[in-house]
Amino acid sequence: MSQTTPEIRIPTEKLPNDGRFASGPSKVRPEAVAALAEIADDFLGTSHRKNAVKDIVGRLRDGLSDLFDLPDDWEVVLGNGGTTLFWDAATIGLIRNRSQHLSFGEFSSKFAKGVAAAPFLAEPMVIESDTGDHPTPVGTPGVDLYALTHNETSTGVSMDLVRPSGADDDALVAVDATSAAGAIAWDTDQVDCYYFAPQKAFASDGGLWIAPCSPKAMDRIREIDAGPRWIPPGLNLNTALDNSVKNQTYNTPALATVFLTMHQVEWFNENGGMTFSAGRSQANAEVIYGWAEASDTTSPFVSDAAKRSQVVATIDFDDSVSADDIAAVLRANGVLDTEGYRKLGRNQLRIALFPAIEASDLHALTECIDYTISQLS
Ligand SMILES: *Cc1c(COP(=O)(O)O)cnc(C)c1O
Repeated sequence: MSQTTPEIRIPTEKLPNDGRFASGPSKVRPEAVAALAEIADDFLGTSHRKNAVKDIVGRLRDGLSDLFDLPDDWEVVLGNGGTTLFWDAATIGLIRNRSQHLSFGEFSSKFAKGVAAAPFLAEPMVIESDTGDHPTPVGTPGVDLYALTHNETSTGVSMDLVRPSGADDDALVAVDATSAAGAIAWDTDQVDCYYFAPQKAFASDGGLWIAPCSPKAMDRIREIDAGPRWIPPGLNLNTALDNSVKNQTYNTPALATVFLTMHQVEWFNENGGMTFSAGRSQANAEVIYGWAEASDTTSPFVSDAAKRSQVVATIDFDDSVSADDIAAVLRANGVLDTEGYRKLGRNQLRIALFPAIEASDLHALTECIDYTISQLS
């Protein structure tokens, strides 16, 4: 990257209406913020043990059950600390002895590393692939939890969720769905625990984890809690489960985060559920990948179109232009967070395609990028 941002002023008529393209925290819809402001006096700054807040938590849990079409015997469990905290809670309260992890980027590798360091668990089985691809789970006797990632946000690779054949009958499939949940369809038959945080496709803020759990997953949570393993109360999934069914959290949640998540879930449901929300991401993906494939300068990083994420696009640029310079020019013009994932180290932009983002704004973004390239070269 050049030391200074090239002085390029993108013509105003090319700019998107909303310049937020971050992969997380991602664009929060102005309508949700306005709805929060409207109820703020009766909601923010009130007790989370009283009905005003419990009602919103209940609407969030019911809305997610509808959105994901959860079977009646599933529960939506939630607590504080986001996905990273959930990994710790799952390490201590969901894995019985040995887990298998698909590792294909920053986020999926992190959970595997955390589990490998846990002294009370057997060495996990870690299956890796190159970045830009994903491995497949391998049904293995003795593995009691398969850790999958629905969408690897660092690389823009997503995978179909399929329970591995040959897995033990009571083995769990636990899926990090942080960037996919609400934007990519999935089948409850294939999964036992589908956990995420709401600052991506749910267009809310961070700090909360949400985990729809099957009866099998809840049995495991209770089994481990009843056993000899010491579990810190704040990481105890059974405690979280007990509170969740009462539409509460173990300790105080961020009320604005809960409200914004609920609002996005209801927006999805009022407009047709997953068909609507996934359809919006799909339309966004068509804009970006269609543009990237048509241009000589750009190409989608993920070569297999079936693995290309419809929530986070990673776009490579050829040597004639610096993606970092483009991102810097965009930022100086109010178009934010298109920088590539630093650790991937590629000449790349990463662009969110979440349902909250308008396809027209992504189209405008491609025009801004094309204009910037024409001015840089
Ligand atoms: C963002 C993200 C995380 C981290 O979420 P936190 O809430 O910040 O802990 C984990 N996994 C995936 C796939 C993500 O996209």
